[in-house]
Amino acid sequence: MIRFGPSGNSESFYEQGYKSSVDMPAWLNELGLNAYEYQCNRGVNLGKSTAERIGTEALRNNIFLSIHAPYYVNMASPEEEKRTKSKRYIIETLTAAKWMGAKRIVVHMGSYSKVDRKWAVEIAKEGLAQVIKEADQLGLNDITICPEILGKNNQLGSLEEILYLCSSDERLIPTVDFGHLHARGQGSLNSPEDYDCILDVIENSLGIERLTNLHCHFSRVEFTKGGEKKHWSMDDTIYGPEFSHLAQIIYKRKMEPVIICESRNKMAEDALKMKKIYEEIKGC
Ligand SMILES: [Zn+2]
Repeated sequence: MIRFGPSGNSESFYEQGYKSSVDMPAWLNELGLNAYEYQCNRGVNLGKSTAERIGTEALRNNIFLSIHAPYYVNMASPEEEKRTKSKRYIIETLTAAKWMGAKRIVVHMGSYSKVDRKWAVEIAKEGLAQVIKEADQLGLNDITICPEILGKNNQLGSLEEILYLCSSDERLIPTVDFGHLHARGQGSLNSPEDYDCILDVIENSLGIERLTNLHCHFSRVEFTKGGEKKHWSMDDTIYGPEFSHLAQIIYKRKMEPVIICESRNKMAEDALKMKKIYEEIKGC
C-alpha cells in the first residue's frame, strides 16, 4: 500500500486552533492522508505518554508513523565525543519510535566538512553498525533506520554514499529525498526517465524489496552551486522537481513507498495534492 503524509505539522493545523501533535492523526485521516513523519529535528523532547497517545491515535486513524531524528546528528564528526553523542540521539529517536509505534526513523548521516570523504563514509558505516547492535540489545530492532539522501554538496548523503551505507545491513532502507537529489544534481530530475534511472540504481544495489518499500521525501527545492537552498510548495512551480514524473514511475514499477511531503508550511495540503496526482495516473 502506497502512503502519503506530511513531515511535521502544517500551518493550517495551528490556524484551525490545534496545538498538539496528538490531534494530527485524526486531522490527517479526515484530510485523506495515511502517513505522518513526526519531527524530532531539534531534539527528542517528547515524553513517553505523549508518544503513546500519538501512537494510539495513529492506529485508530490508520496513519503510518515515522520519526525524523535530530538534524545535528553527525556520524562523521572528526570529534569522537560528537560521534558518540550522535549514536545516542539515534537510539533516543528509536526509543521514542518504540513508544509511538513508529515503524521507521529518518536519519541524516552528517557532513564531511573538515574530514576526508572516504574516512567520513567508513566511520559513519562503523557507527551505524554499532547503533544497530545496540538497538538489537535494547529490543528496538523492529524499527527501520532510514539514512537520508541530503541536498548540500558538503553533506554526507549522496545517492552512492547512502546506498553504500544501506548495503551494509539488509534492514536499512534509504530515505530518498528527490528534492535533495535534484538540488545536488543541479536540477537533474526533469523527466520520468530520470527517476527510472535512479530507481534502477537503487534496485541494483539493494534489491527489489527495499526498492518497493522505499521511504521517500518530496518537495520543490531551490538550489545554488552548493546544493539545496530552500524548500518550496507545490504552487511554486518555478522550482522543480515535478511529482507527476515520479508518480508515473512508481505506478509503472508497482512500488509501495511511504511518501512524505516536505513542502514549506503546506506539507499536508501538498501531500494530498501528490496523492491525487498519483491516483489520477493510476486511474482511480
Ligand atoms: Zn531530513
